[in-house]
Amino acid sequence: MKKPFVTLPQLQSITAQYPTPFHLYDEKGIRENARAMKAAFAWNPGFKEYFAVKATPTPAILKLLREEGCGVDCSSLTELMLSDQCGFGGSEIMFSSNDTPAEEFVLADKLGATINLDDFTHIDFLQKAVGHIPETISCRYNPGGTFTAGASKEGFQVMDNPGEAKYGFTRAQLTEGFRKLKAMGAKHFGLHAFLASNTLSNDYYPALARILFQTAVELQQETGCHIAFINLSGGVGIPYRPDQTANDISVIGEGVRNAYEEVLVPAGMGDVSIFTELGRFMLGPYGCLVTKATHFKHTYKEYVGVDACAANLMRPAMYGAYHHITVMGKEDAPCDHVYDVTGGLCENNDKFAIDRPLPEIELGDLLVIHDTGAHGHSMGYQYNGRLRSAELLLREDGSVKLIRRAETPEDYFATMVFD
Ligand SMILES: *Cc1c(COP(=O)(O)O)cnc(C)c1O
Repeated sequence: MKKPFVTLPQLQSITAQYPTPFHLYDEKGIRENARAMKAAFAWNPGFKEYFAVKATPTPAILKLLREEGCGVDCSSLTELMLSDQCGFGGSEIMFSSNDTPAEEFVLADKLGATINLDDFTHIDFLQKAVGHIPETISCRYNPGGTFTAGASKEGFQVMDNPGEAKYGFTRAQLTEGFRKLKAMGAKHFGLHAFLASNTLSNDYYPALARILFQTAVELQQETGCHIAFINLSGGVGIPYRPDQTANDISVIGEGVRNAYEEVLVPAGMGDVSIFTELGRFMLGPYGCLVTKATHFKHTYKEYVGVDACAANLMRPAMYGAYHHITVMGKEDAPCDHVYDVTGGLCENNDKFAIDRPLPEIELGDLLVIHDTGAHGHSMGYQYNGRLRSAELLLREDGSVKLIRRAETPEDYFATMVFD
């Protein structure tokens, strides 16, 4: 059973001050998880997690992660600016972008970020944009074909289709790219790949690591380049459904360590640092969307209208993603009603749940929509003139802090030209 990190009495006191809907984050959960992540890779002295800013681009969250030793992974100009404002600099910033405008390379270089190139042609593009090739540079690898890794806890294999993904260098381009970059002045190299998303398997990172480690050994032999780090990127998932089992980050860390000791150490490459760029795993379970039941509708189905909509959380509408829902105060009541839980957008996909068995819902009930801490608020939009909600932080001492105010009509009108 999935349990919210907040209780009904806590929510009643929070909603007395901040109207629903809002995203709420759990400082304690975020910190504990970040520490577990760090401990899992403590065997690697250079280890660093670069939190994927796009998952939760909120200053209070980024600062909290920085206190726990994390860097940031940026992919756009504004994410770079945000990270800079939050105190990240130099080697604390990874810049993994694609189809990159020149001005973004310029800012990344100015901040001293580590640039992770998405394509062979970006080598000349970067040189032209910033006037030099940085001493430390990284390339993103796409091995093509399909990728599979061990069994998940539910018995499925992790499978994805890198051959269809727009990202990364081919294998041949990596060799050519490393040689070219070295000739242009690069001294320390990184290798990055992101081959599967939201994986529920302790085998994903170790399998990916093995591929990258072997490739790094080959590249080192072919080009003589010094490989300083391997970036396992994002993709470690979370159990959105109550019947799914969470990944065990300590098992994942040990799996990567085994591959490291089997592949890199014998090749004399025991100084390579391991980097990660997790977003979902770092924040997903430690945020929720709190909303209120505002309408009932009985037609061909039973609908519960809530005061949040896809503008606050797009994943169900966009991917048909499952997000668990708890009706607060009715955690132990039987789920003997079946509802579609809907928002107010004029789009029939604006449903947080379809045919979901839930306890009987009454007007004014508070609903917690789970696992919105990553790719939740950040994917919000203003379609239909619906505005993005506030973000609140539930602190370790039980107090609550507003960390982003809700948008107002003034924000909505701010970009419009009326004459
Ligand atoms: C989105 C993204 C991540 C984070 O992915 P998660 O699935 O949230 O872990 C990491 N690296 C890059 C380059 C990304 O685009």
